[in-house]
Amino acid sequence: MAEVLVYVDHLNGTVRKPTLELLTLARRLGEPVAVFLGPGAGAAAPVLAEYGAVRILAADLPEFTDHFLVPRVDALRAAVDSVSPAAVLVPSSADGREIAARLAVRTGSGLITDAVDVEAGEHGPVATQSVFAAEFTTRSRVTRGVPVITVKPNSAEPEAAPAAGTVEQLAVAVSEASRGTRVVSRTPRESTGRPELTEAAIVVSGGRGLGDAGTFALIEALADSLGAAVGASRAAVDAGWYPHSHQVGQTGKSVSPQLYVAAGISGAIQHRAGMQTSRTIVAVNKDAEAPIFELADYGVVGDLFQVVPRLTEEIESRRG
Ligand code: FAD
Repeated sequence: MAEVLVYVDHLNGTVRKPTLELLTLARRLGEPVAVFLGPGAGAAAPVLAEYGAVRILAADLPEFTDHFLVPRVDALRAAVDSVSPAAVLVPSSADGREIAARLAVRTGSGLITDAVDVEAGEHGPVATQSVFAAEFTTRSRVTRGVPVITVKPNSAEPEAAPAAGTVEQLAVAVSEASRGTRVVSRTPRESTGRPELTEAAIVVSGGRGLGDAGTFALIEALADSLGAAVGASRAAVDAGWYPHSHQVGQTGKSVSPQLYVAAGISGAIQHRAGMQTSRTIVAVNKDAEAPIFELADYGVVGDLFQVVPRLTEEIESRRG
């Protein structure tokens, strides 16, 4: 059976959920082989094996932390050369997209980014993408080289399928050219205790309808009652009410959660571009004609200052 490489996204050895989703999707295409770069492969191996990694190719070089992403591309290239995989799946994070693009160039392969589904086709993997502000869904396949596909978080529900998960060392030669940039410092973001926006299963976003920065506390309270991440429209971000790192949309982040709650957001096409692939969309807006209701699965026409706190209260009371 063909092998499929899965690039492991991890934080100090803790495997992130999008990787488990990729292992689940990879099993449709062949036998998943995880590529783990950096320290902690031994500790990560059990979870990778639980979700179907037949083998884990591990490499831990100082270049992975001292230099920006390019040495990781050297490693992934080495993995491609040694495995000759049917496809390479990479999480659609900012880093993942850059690594995938560079790998595709290096291997002379076709690249598909931001897939929301991947399945086996007669002539190789077929990826589904949501394009043009999610107005269209396309299904495409790579016709040259090894298909390199980045997949958006929450595209699949991780399913366990225990496999051997044997850890093997991957020999990587980092070229001089790949040392072209050096990381001089890293500043960890202050933790809010909420999930990462692009990976969260639930996102609660606020827009201009909130009126000022202070009222974002209502959005945060609802998010916390649901264990959700907080998003914002560009209007809210431009007004300085919430940081740009939380902006959802064309010039912000693209999210695809199970549940997206939009409060006081009109649903401009640029906002939709970042959230339209969400599984279930709930909108709260006082204007019944707001475009957000065209795509909402559930809509509440009402004042968010009344609706959102009552919703939070109700959820809190049901959680007991
Ligand atoms: P508005 O459009 O002003 O909508 C506010 C909504 O709140 C209204 O529908 C109103 O009825 C409702 N409301 C008001 N008060 C209440 C209340 N008390 N209770 C309930 N509802 C209430 N936008 C993004 O979001 N993300 C992007 O990445 C992005 N990128 C862009 C890129 C470009 C090149 C351009 C040109 C624009 C971009 N925009 C982006 C901006 C986009 O066009 C919209 O201007 C923006 O999304 C509007 O934000 P909003 O819905 O919060 O504000």
